[in-house]
Amino acid sequence: MLIGMASSGIPEPHGGRLINRVVGGDPERITSDRDILRVGISDDLASDVENIADGVFSPLEGFMDHDDLMHVLKDGRLHNGLAWTIPILLDVDSDTGARMKDARDVLLVSKSTVALMHVEDCYRYDKLEIARSVYQTTDPSHPGVARTMAMKDIFVHGRIDLVSRANRDELRRYRLTPAESRRMIVERGWRSVVGFQTRNIPHLAHEMLQKSVLNFFDALFINPLIGRKKSGDFRDEVIIRAYEVLVDNYYPKDRVLFATLHTEMRYAGPKEAIHHAIMRKNLGCTHFIVGRDHAGVGSFYHPFAAQEIFKYYPDIGIEPVFFPAFFYCKRCMGIVSERMCPHPQDYRMELSGTRLRRMITEGERPSELLMRPEVVDVIMQHGDPFVP
Ligand SMILES: [Zn+2]
Repeated sequence: MLIGMASSGIPEPHGGRLINRVVGGDPERITSDRDILRVGISDDLASDVENIADGVFSPLEGFMDHDDLMHVLKDGRLHNGLAWTIPILLDVDSDTGARMKDARDVLLVSKSTVALMHVEDCYRYDKLEIARSVYQTTDPSHPGVARTMAMKDIFVHGRIDLVSRANRDELRRYRLTPAESRRMIVERGWRSVVGFQTRNIPHLAHEMLQKSVLNFFDALFINPLIGRKKSGDFRDEVIIRAYEVLVDNYYPKDRVLFATLHTEMRYAGPKEAIHHAIMRKNLGCTHFIVGRDHAGVGSFYHPFAAQEIFKYYPDIGIEPVFFPAFFYCKRCMGIVSERMCPHPQDYRMELSGTRLRRMITEGERPSELLMRPEVVDVIMQHGDPFVP
């Protein structure tokens, strides 16, 4: 029998308390109030509403206020000093902002969720300033900068209560709340759990990197990001299906947990690496893998900037595990890393995203030295595996 959370290695949630803002009781009573103001929100915002309510974003209890936003941008911390690098914002147009401020309690409605928001403030903030701080560039070709500049003008601050959400559909079947994943980790008796973030199809190089941690830690928590991605990235359902067949055929089931995390990719490089680590801490991971160019895009960030940034966050409460790039070396005759292989670049075989996309589009199968045949099958059978 498993007694004693105390003996578990699971870290405390970020800020010390797992936030739970899921309303119990009768959702009908709240949603049937005809006088209440209803505001439609995008799927991306709805995902973040759920993340707030479930405690993925602990200690946040709602969308950020002006003060927290300013501190996040200037110091990479909330106003109370707690590590936090990515603004969590609800943006609306001026008219909606004015109506929300008057109404105070508002229903946020999307296809999949209904939440009550207790509006406390509506404010403006220089979007260029947000982009410059989060992405360290204002170049509009950066997808995160473009997203930020396209936000509406008013940010609404207030705590939220999740009233209802969609049942588990195809894309949600692996979604775990922090309460659920923490319980599973404790039940399995794991004392060290290494989180792996991905937004990609698993190559053999990813698999070997992931498996190498199983030599030193109790378990691996594979946790792909589901949500808005840039054009040319793989579709969410393809990533989920690829991991299903991979874990099924090649991973020790008693040492691996697979779950999805539903929030948009921001491509903020180092700042997003910190955000990714905090979310995995809330999910119960003790360690978090930070690879080469983590959450980067193009050549906006130095390949190891996302590892360097952790030295400013010794108090983050989850241990980063830094990895070099993995690749196939023809002379080593296997997947190795740049720290293991003495051979020149010419011996390396790597599958860049661009090359893989071209191969798939032309119906050419990647080598089994680079990608598992089951994973290739998933991609090939999908027909339309890329985000348009
Ligand atoms: Zn080699």
